[in-house]
Amino acid sequence: MLLDPFLYQSNPYRILFGPGKFADLGRELSLLGVQRALLLSTPQQVDLAERGARDLGDMSADIFSGATMHTPEIVTQEALNVLKQSAANGLVALGGGSTIGLGKALALRTSLPLLAVPTTYAGSEMTRILGETRDGLKTTQVSPLVLPRTVIYDAELTIGLPVGLSVVSGFNAMAHAVEALYAANANPVMSLMAQEGIRAFASSLPAIVENLENREARTEALYGAWLCGMCLGNAGMALHHKICHVLGGTFQLPHAETHTVMLPHVLAYNARAIPNAMRILSLAVGTDDPAVALYRLAKRLGAPISLADLGMPEAGLEEATTLALKDSYPNPRPIEKSAIRAMLDRAHAGLEPADM
Ligand code: NAD
Repeated sequence: MLLDPFLYQSNPYRILFGPGKFADLGRELSLLGVQRALLLSTPQQVDLAERGARDLGDMSADIFSGATMHTPEIVTQEALNVLKQSAANGLVALGGGSTIGLGKALALRTSLPLLAVPTTYAGSEMTRILGETRDGLKTTQVSPLVLPRTVIYDAELTIGLPVGLSVVSGFNAMAHAVEALYAANANPVMSLMAQEGIRAFASSLPAIVENLENREARTEALYGAWLCGMCLGNAGMALHHKICHVLGGTFQLPHAETHTVMLPHVLAYNARAIPNAMRILSLAVGTDDPAVALYRLAKRLGAPISLADLGMPEAGLEEATTLALKDSYPNPRPIEKSAIRAMLDRAHAGLEPADM
């Protein structure tokens, strides 16, 4: 096998994985030197924060359950006030990317250690990236301070993730792994994680849709989420993530759903430039046309397959094309304006992906 030269570097993580491992929260906080922790959640998941607080007893300083999408700075300020009052010396984020985003925003401002307990497959817990919004404007920064010191993956906590969110969150995760396969800083170890992460989702999502309480499938999906999150945290992203940022940022399309719709199309666009990645993806999904296979999987599982269904106005496609070309991320196939527009047209109409 011909190996390209590579650099392998990974973030320092402590990962605790397994159903029921949430019970080890107090012990893990102690290992981080935390005596009293502030627990964070969304209003929808306050029950989980309350359960954590009960389990922690005196180690629980307080709960802040106001986490919300896009990490608005005003919410971070509210949480900071609660944090100061509570005299906590550690943070626990219980939930999806929104709650983990708040935990990161607090860790950045206080340098307190953050422990994350993810309950979706988005992967934010594995990255040094923090996206925040102020007066409706989103900014993104990268800092080692926001990286959770410890992550507890407990699939029992994902049983309540609704079916639609489970599927699109899984596709959101797979998108990280797909782009890691052809990233400018790709390496063979990350490619192994990407292949296994995608395989885990392709195998577990249909079983989850059939039975949301299938613990084996939930565990396999969360394992996939960890692997795909590692890809996001350690490899550079390309055209797919750029387009999703444009569609989410400028047209307010929903995050995970947009990833689900776009992933097969961007893969078909890049396919001719990434033979090795396509070979690995074929192994992961068990077919020789992974782009079409991912599209059909999304459709079969009832996920959205068209940008129109997500509320994207047809009149905005030209602007989206122009924005996708601006400050574009490194991408294996050169960014060709007319082909990108044709790809967005197909995605808007919900057609099968094709090499444009
Ligand atoms: P989310 O955190 O917004 O969660 C969506 C809803 O589902 C919330 O109401 C949440 O409380 C609820 N929920 C989560 N887990 C649940 C469960 N197990 N059972 C029942 N309800 C549950 O969604 P998300 O997709 O995880 O995160 C999206 C956000 O994360 C976006 O803002 C995105 O930009 C960000 N993100 C950031 C990074 C990063 O590296 N910085 C990576 C991925 C995503």
